[in-house]
Amino acid sequence: ATSELERARTALRATFGFDGFRGRQEDVVERVLHGQSTLAVMPTGAGKSLTYQLPAVMLEGTCVVISPLIALMHDQLRSARANGIRAATLTSADADWRETQDAFRAGELDLLYVAPERASQQGFRDFLTAAPIALFAVDEAHCVSEWGHDFRPDYRMLRPLMDQFPQVARLALTATADSQTRRDVMAQLGIPDDGLVLAGFDRPNIRYAIRPRDNPVRQIADLMARQPGPGIVYAQTRRKVEELAEKLAAATGRSVLPYHAGLPAETRAANQAAFVASEDMVIVATIAFGMGIDKPDVRFVAHVGVPKSIEGYYQETGRAGRDGDPSLATMFWGAGDFATARQRLAEVPEDRRNAERARLDALAGLVETPQCRRAVLLRHFGEDPPETCGNCDNCLDPPAVTDATELARKLLSA
Ligand code: ADP
Ligand code: MG
Repeated sequence: ATSELERARTALRATFGFDGFRGRQEDVVERVLHGQSTLAVMPTGAGKSLTYQLPAVMLEGTCVVISPLIALMHDQLRSARANGIRAATLTSADADWRETQDAFRAGELDLLYVAPERASQQGFRDFLTAAPIALFAVDEAHCVSEWGHDFRPDYRMLRPLMDQFPQVARLALTATADSQTRRDVMAQLGIPDDGLVLAGFDRPNIRYAIRPRDNPVRQIADLMARQPGPGIVYAQTRRKVEELAEKLAAATGRSVLPYHAGLPAETRAANQAAFVASEDMVIVATIAFGMGIDKPDVRFVAHVGVPKSIEGYYQETGRAGRDGDPSLATMFWGAGDFATARQRLAEVPEDRRNAERARLDALAGLVETPQCRRAVLLRHFGEDPPETCGNCDNCLDPPAVTDATELARKLLSA
């Protein structure tokens, strides 16, 4: 090990209280400490934040972190400060800009979190020249690519910003990027071809199941009975979220709360806080819910209806079982879900329609397969997994060939 790595292990213990690195964190940290630009693709919950927070503490100067959501930044800020890291955010929700700017200029900040739209402002670029920068960290880096599932035009302004500081290393982080998206992210952000660190995507403690939907209230009530503990149910529309939450509460007598962007901000915050604190609550939500929520003991994630893509499915199901304990990810789908999604393709701008269609087809492949779900999922992310996992519906209860044909027929006629 290099002396940097020994120093890194000492700092890891001293600052974060962790005994060792997890997975490929160590490789990422080593590259960053050597000033090598890197794209780190690591699953949700793998501990990507640490790979820039630790160098931020060790390196001279401030680490500038670009993150897409203010709520996400404030969560990070709280946990960084709890570890004694000197961190600040510059967002529209902050009143202490003056203090933050003074601290940056005085070289007293380890971490500075900003939103991507800040990057396009010349005033901000000038401000950054006032003190040494240790590193640029680009969180949720798939947002820079139109191939990714969450393209954000503001991310395109990061390249010109970072190019003004050519000597500063860049660390891009994402949980969800297929090989095409990875190549694009690296090209867009100026990361060399040999700068990829790809960690495993497998989440062995999650049991995957994908079933046809007949009566979602009964099906999810059954799931809740089989699998005690906190759970997230994803539904497609605000109306369905509210309806399902109400019916599930009535059917199970459990605490079930709704979450979607149409609820008043206080209600959303209260429901989210109740969920995070609870040991047995179920939250029914649109996909607006979950990003940046650090709740390790989610015991199940259920989908009523199909997600947008395999990437979305992986990210949403990945919120189950971050503590490593057995957890369920169950999707209840209907043939009509794909029909609706295909119709919506017509509204997608033509230059993106093929990519969207390919994503939908890949998801249909996962739903349709009579083979190991995990194998299909991992192959999608470029891994070469074993043929069977022993912990998905198709491995535990292999479908009869006729069932698979029937499923395929349903999909084709959708
Ligand atoms: P990601 O951004 O990859 O989804 P986070 O950075 O939010 O993951 O980290 C997920 C959790 O893992 C956090 O609670 C964090 O404290 C924990 N964690 C990170 N690195 C380690 C480590 N080396 N040892 C133990 N826990 C870790
Ligand atoms: Mg993260």
